[in-house]
Amino acid sequence: MIRFLHLTPGPDAADVRAAIDRVVARGWFILGPELEAFERAFAGACAAPHAIGVGNGTDALALALRALGIGPGDEVITAPLSAAYTALAIMMAGARPVFADIDPERLTIDPRAVDAAITSRTAAILPVHIYGQAADMPALAAIAQRHRVALVEDCCQAHLATCEGRPVGSFGAVAAYSFYPTKNLGALGDAGLLTTADGAVAERARRLRNGGQTDRYHHGEFGVNSRLDEIQAAVLHARLAWLPRWTEARRALARRYRERLRDAPVFVPPERDPGHVYHLFPVLSEQRTALQRHLADRGIETLIHYPVPIPRQPALAAERPAACPVADRVCAQVLSLPLHPGLAAGAVDEVAAAVTAPAAPRGGTAVAPD
Ligand SMILES: *Cc1c(COP(=O)(O)O)cnc(C)c1O
Repeated sequence: MIRFLHLTPGPDAADVRAAIDRVVARGWFILGPELEAFERAFAGACAAPHAIGVGNGTDALALALRALGIGPGDEVITAPLSAAYTALAIMMAGARPVFADIDPERLTIDPRAVDAAITSRTAAILPVHIYGQAADMPALAAIAQRHRVALVEDCCQAHLATCEGRPVGSFGAVAAYSFYPTKNLGALGDAGLLTTADGAVAERARRLRNGGQTDRYHHGEFGVNSRLDEIQAAVLHARLAWLPRWTEARRALARRYRERLRDAPVFVPPERDPGHVYHLFPVLSEQRTALQRHLADRGIETLIHYPVPIPRQPALAAERPAACPVADRVCAQVLSLPLHPGLAAGAVDEVAAAVTAPAAPRGGTAVAPD
């Protein structure tokens, strides 16, 4: 049996336990020293001047937009291939999500499609560094600058990723992170964080996450209750020390997959930037259903990220989003193979052999979609 994921703490178990025990012994559970220490450490790890811990990645995105003053009447251009939470966060801020199609190989938002989607109502561009690989940030930053709109980065799948050598999150005005348990840096529950270089935006986000309080019991504006608690902050801080090792392990496994899948009847999206952190390892197959069944028959767990493009989600119907044909096709073909830091190299060989095996359904030609 090759499991898709394994969330029980492994080599980090003692560090996680010590972190929890420390917080419990102190008896300070919300907005305390652990959060401050983790915010400083995480900001350092991604070279960001300010980090603000919040309840989850969705809130990080919504509060990033709100802290920038983006809301009702504004349009935010984003990717159709992501966790739907990216678009839901735009709606939570009161703005309208507008979708620009993705690049068929990089699988991140296509800058030409973004350019074409700009209107007088566009307030921000919100690219998603999907699967761990950065979107084409230099091109997107140039478009944002030309049209004087904000750039907000969804880094929920891209902790420690870089784009042309520069940390993701450093291109935009604000970046949002999730520490959902399955992410490259995961908590033992929900957690999120946003980073920014703008001190005023940081201060506003700090107020917004805590009910809009200016002082204790004085609410200056309509904020939310979205705080990263002390236990999760302590656990994340302990795990942050492991993250570079885990990231290297992901990269090594991905390299192995690429070698072993060379003759497989699937399309393996090329690595466009060595700063890829391989949150997931997706392949595309025209025979996805058969391939997934073939792997399941051999005890190999796979998942689909994501089966429905966001513009086609019923929850988005009121926004009447335009369809994105490349995202439609990718969502119909994509399959995530198991990849996590605890996965053995032998398991990669086994999965790759099963994907390549003659018994495997012939998606036929391992070609790029169009
Ligand atoms: C996980 C994720 C989110 C949402 O994060 P939560 O912590 O679950 O709210 C948003 N965008 C992307 C790309 C994600 O992977």
